[in-house]
Amino acid sequence: MQKRIQTRVFLLRSGANRVTPRAMRYDTVILGAGAAGLMCATQTGGRTLVIDHARAPGEKIRISGGGRCNFTNMYAGPENFLSENPHFCKSALARYTQWDFIALVDRHGIAWHEKTLGQLFCDGSARQIVAMLVEEITRAGADLWLQTTLADLRRTEDGFALAVDRDGQRQTLTCRNLVLATGGKSIPKMGATGLAYDIARQFGLPVTDTRAGLVPFTFPEGRFKPLAGVSLPVRLSTGATSFDEALLFTHRGLSGPAVLQISSYWREGQEIAVNLLPDTDLMATLRAERATNGRRQTATVLSGLLPARLVEDLAPTLPAQGRLADQPDIALAALCDALNHWRLTPSGTEGYRTAEVTLGGISTDALSSRSMEATAVPGLYAIGEAVDVTGWLGGYNFQWAWSSGHAAGQAIAQASRGLETRPQAT
Ligand SMILES: Cc1cc2nc3c(=O)[nH]c(=O)nc-3n(C[C@H](O)[C@H](O)[C@H](O)COP(=O)(O)OP(=O)(O)OC[C@H]3O[C@@H](n4cnc5c(N)ncnc54)[C@H](O)[C@@H]3O)c2cc1C
Repeated sequence: MQKRIQTRVFLLRSGANRVTPRAMRYDTVILGAGAAGLMCATQTGGRTLVIDHARAPGEKIRISGGGRCNFTNMYAGPENFLSENPHFCKSALARYTQWDFIALVDRHGIAWHEKTLGQLFCDGSARQIVAMLVEEITRAGADLWLQTTLADLRRTEDGFALAVDRDGQRQTLTCRNLVLATGGKSIPKMGATGLAYDIARQFGLPVTDTRAGLVPFTFPEGRFKPLAGVSLPVRLSTGATSFDEALLFTHRGLSGPAVLQISSYWREGQEIAVNLLPDTDLMATLRAERATNGRRQTATVLSGLLPARLVEDLAPTLPAQGRLADQPDIALAALCDALNHWRLTPSGTEGYRTAEVTLGGISTDALSSRSMEATAVPGLYAIGEAVDVTGWLGGYNFQWAWSSGHAAGQAIAQASRGLETRPQAT
């Protein structure tokens, strides 16, 4: 995987024995060998170079989905994405769908399964997806330079000039198309940087505020420590948005799929509401229980419906205490309200350190939704997580990386073939 695909190096002899490298000419340079950049490189055609500062391509793919990569979602659609412009993702998603990616995975003989809610995972390893993409870009004739950093970037008359550092040497490159595919800021330990945003700003493209998404909530020290490890299905809401998935109590606060999902919609200082029994008519259940087993303690009855450790933790604060027979309807209604609308205010989130994605990014206002090209800077493209399009948990973020990468790659290939004029923003 780490093998370096050698490119031709043009040398100019100047003076006696001095050797000065001349700028290498590429049609397309893609910054970032992650999900979007690799997909893009399978499509661009011409002379394409993918540059990444990491030691291996697709590192986030490798660690994703617990090592099995939740590579897409069968039900992926525009409604599963957050963006200042919710319509922006439609074009790319429609032109390279989850079924297109599944067909690619199938062509490579990678076995997969649906885990839940349309989420597709490799039966074997996420490394198979990385290997598949590397095989595809190699077949497409693209070069891949790893452990390479960008030192300088300028606009030229017909494209871009880059200086990069590789193997301790400075090299200069020129290209007609430059694709920003360096992702977002989540998990800096894995090499995530804000490079795409910096370059976008350098060329005058607006960047929306960025923040951590799909991230656990933190609470004041020790708040949920006694409950660490307890997990249950809940309906978690903030404002008008709700998710029915599992909640997990942790030493630091709350996590689990429901929490990660709602975190993308949550803003600092806002309340979240937890329905601990979303699929139970609690009032009817408690009344029936009171009629037949009224001598039982209310907490004991609740322990049959919820994890015992959670009931133990909540019991002292619940409105109905003692025997069920002693609880009038009004007390039972208050108990139902407490359990169906448990209101909590997180102190914050774990931030980019553990976030699966970055919300916000290069503004869609500046890009064509068809080609992902910057309307004001012909030849400059932005794809994947670097763009202000963020998916839900469940394979949607990779689908956006595949779809946006494919859209840019195809647009570049078509433009190079001169089959159409440059696309305009929509
Ligand atoms: C732990 C974890 C698990 C995840 N699991 C899933 C999942 O199962 N399903 C799903 O859909 N999504 C998942 N995601 C989200 C998904 O990984 C990203 O949304 C997706 O990888 C974005 O693709 P991208 O190509 O835009 O960026 P990335 O895949 O992040 O690729 C960006 C590339 O750019 C390189 N780069 C960054 N800065 C520089 C720089 N300054 N110079 C040179 N190179 C640079 C990086 O090394 C990287 O290779 C997960 C994320 C995390 C963190």
